[in-house]
Amino acid sequence: MSVSTQQLSAAIGDLGLAKRPVMIHSSLRSFGEPVEGGADGLLDLFLARGCTILVPTFSESQFGAVPPATMRPDRNAIDYAEMPAEAPLVQQVPEYTVDSTVVNTGMGVVPARLLARPDAVRGLHPLNSFAALGPLARELASAQSPADVYGPVRLLAERDGAILLMGVGLNRMTALHCAEEQSGRRLLVRWARDADGRVFMVETGSCSEGFPRLDPFLRTLARTASVGGSTWAVYPAKETLAAASAAMSADQTVTRCADRACLRCRDSIAGGPLGASPLG
Ligand SMILES: [Zn+2]
Repeated sequence: MSVSTQQLSAAIGDLGLAKRPVMIHSSLRSFGEPVEGGADGLLDLFLARGCTILVPTFSESQFGAVPPATMRPDRNAIDYAEMPAEAPLVQQVPEYTVDSTVVNTGMGVVPARLLARPDAVRGLHPLNSFAALGPLARELASAQSPADVYGPVRLLAERDGAILLMGVGLNRMTALHCAEEQSGRRLLVRWARDADGRVFMVETGSCSEGFPRLDPFLRTLARTASVGGSTWAVYPAKETLAAASAAMSADQTVTRCADRACLRCRDSIAGGPLGASPLG
């Protein structure tokens, strides 16, 4: 037994996704049986319905760098005492380019397969890039920069985009980090290196393990369907960002995760990095 392309295509239509940009967070294992055509077949079905697919393609572990002492803002969810006092003069960290297909393995098979497509477009962010495929791919991906990590998410919302959780929970909904920013939090800063080896600062997301606590504020926005053993939940991007941002503005602690020692939750809920904007 396998989940057929007919079942998958019907779900895309029933959930109102045709012709829209869709940010997809997926677990192929959630189907409980093989998916006909695998990850590539799934991508082709969305493309055939006129969708633009947007996925997170993060790569912190490959492109993250140690910062010099002058680039270490306080309240940035990091214990600098655990870092070298200064950045090493030579760091064995490659420069990220939008042509890179390197991605954290934990992102899953769909982002990896999307990045492998010759017509995929990847955003300019060394640590938290998004990649896109389809009619609006270039527009969405080019909205990203090191100083504006969630440009593609805002554009997704402006273009009547949707967020599809395919067998995964709200803790995977990257767009909610954009709502954190809209609720007044400053985003955490991390570091990468440019072609000349110089370290520069980039915006990054914080902890997402507490995002399922936003469910009471978001569930009425979701449309769901069962596809094989997988539950798909589709959220309209614009309304979801607005509802999540409002919930956080009313109570910043609403996103706190279960780990009481979580530095990212502690510092983000407090408002994020201190001082003049480190990104200029
Ligand atoms: Zn946390």
